[in-house]
Amino acid sequence: MLVIFLGPPGVGKGTQAKMASVKTGLPQISTGDILREAVKARTPLGMEAKGYMDSGKLVPDDLVKKLLTERLARPDCAGGAILDGFPRNISQVRYLEGLRAPANNGTTRVVSFELTEAELLKRLTGRRVCKKCGMMYHIMFNPPLNDGICDTCGGELYQRDDDKEDVIRARMDVYRKDTEPVIAYYSGKGLLRTVSAAGTQEEVGRRVEEALK
Ligand code: AMP
Repeated sequence: MLVIFLGPPGVGKGTQAKMASVKTGLPQISTGDILREAVKARTPLGMEAKGYMDSGKLVPDDLVKKLLTERLARPDCAGGAILDGFPRNISQVRYLEGLRAPANNGTTRVVSFELTEAELLKRLTGRRVCKKCGMMYHIMFNPPLNDGICDTCGGELYQRDDDKEDVIRARMDVYRKDTEPVIAYYSGKGLLRTVSAAGTQEEVGRRVEEALK
């Protein structure tokens, strides 16, 4: 089974995908996380992806399709996976539909997260991430105990380059142009469950659980 999480930047789908992964036992596959790792490790994939990511654009389809295929081929995905950040456009939808992998056994659930643009901006500009373990914080809604330091591992917190306001606007434009048609597509197929992302992580988590039943 494939569970697809869709939503605009800042909606909290990464956090929800992690929570759903714990509950369902399905691995979370975040193409954004895999790309950020590649950038950090300065691999050829990372070097190619960096410029697109820093300016809020989508990384070219062939790169992302390849990395998703490799990730889905790993044994932990045999029973399915939660896709967090893929597909992002109609070409990636088509690719996924044709992809041969045990995880892609014909059952697909799609959850679309919704939130107002003002709230998205607030969430994104306050977001901080641990350099070491990837744990996420928010300077207002979920601050660490000590400023700039991860509660879990003591790592340094930083702001993603693409969480700066001008890049956020570009990411939202890309979302409207490329990813909203994906939502319309799955809605037309009767696969879409829409979830409000307002409220606490736990409240949203309960809505996700309902949507996946
Ligand atoms: P995310 O963490 O999902 O917000 O992704 C961060 C950035 O990684 C995006 O702004 C894109 O540049 C890139 N990215 C992640 N997933 C994809 C995808 N499926 N297709 C193209 N680019 C992607």
